[in-house]
Amino acid sequence: MSENPTRRDFVLSTAAALPLVRTALPRGAAGAWRAAPALLLKPASSPCVVASANGIRGVAKAMDLIANHGADTLDAAIEAVKIEELDPDDPYVGYGGFPNAAGVVQLDAACMHGPTRRAGAVGALEGIKTPSEVARCVMKYTDEIFLVGKGAQDFAVQFGFKIENLLTEKAREAWLHWRANLNPHDDYRDVPDSQPMVVQPHGTINCSAVNANGDISSVTTTSGAAWKVPGRVGDSPIIGAGLYVDNDAGAAGSTGLGERNMMACGSYVAVEAMRRGMSPTDACLEALRRAVAMSPPDTLAPDGRPKWDLNYYALSKKGEFGSAAMYPGFQFAVNDSHGPRLADAAALYPSRPAGA
Ligand code: ASP
Repeated sequence: MSENPTRRDFVLSTAAALPLVRTALPRGAAGAWRAAPALLLKPASSPCVVASANGIRGVAKAMDLIANHGADTLDAAIEAVKIEELDPDDPYVGYGGFPNAAGVVQLDAACMHGPTRRAGAVGALEGIKTPSEVARCVMKYTDEIFLVGKGAQDFAVQFGFKIENLLTEKAREAWLHWRANLNPHDDYRDVPDSQPMVVQPHGTINCSAVNANGDISSVTTTSGAAWKVPGRVGDSPIIGAGLYVDNDAGAAGSTGLGERNMMACGSYVAVEAMRRGMSPTDACLEALRRAVAMSPPDTLAPDGRPKWDLNYYALSKKGEFGSAAMYPGFQFAVNDSHGPRLADAAALYPSRPAGA
């Protein structure tokens, strides 16, 4: 007769927790654990939320929802990234994101829910401020994973999302500036050097969260590469690239040049590395090495260092976290028992090649 696995797991985990329980109990209360063992088990994991640096407000919000309101980890992570999606001053995510080459904001997002092993994603979505929430609707209410373009927008409207103009004046002006300087031989007059364009061409937010049960979720949302070819979908909504969750191992997410990440399936690589026992930081470095190895030679300097940036964020089932970038000086956001803060990411290379 086979043993009931539920009971066996319960007995094993109870046995593992006993030494802790006994020391924690006051003298004379040694028998108390027999009455209510489930209440005395050590939590499987330390709650932790990790995100790209622009998620510094979000990691505080997500941890509060998990720790004080019992929120599901995906719901908490989505509330974290929505802060940026709705912020017109974050030019890389949601409302206020930089548009594509035609001046149209097209958004990508994906989410994964570890406990139910489900995922949802949207690509090239126009007019909806919070694509992360649309991705969650795809996950919750369909048997599909990935909707794009007009289909994704129609789907969102059916669920009550409003179509709005996502192009802020600030983003429109930046786009006009880019177009003016694109080609000295086109019909747009170049803007003088005394008025340099001071915008960065990339940005995204990824946020992963784990609770005390060891349930893990992750979400990534972006307006993608600024001035991209209309219709381009980046890595952010691609399961395995922009993010990956396995509730038995951990979660990983990425920001930076999406095309290089897609070739490596880097978030999947990082989660698999954690499954093999690597720390989250080492797992992120492993994913970066894979991305470099899978890159076209003309995107690398002669010594093999990349001329582009890519960053990974990882969270293990136990609540350990880490992040790595190509070059030093990169930070990420984290919130655990020590509170919300920015931390330095590890770097794969000590310095950038000239001109990169
Ligand atoms: N990874 C995003 C993309 O390529 C952009 C970024 O994170 O900078 O669409």
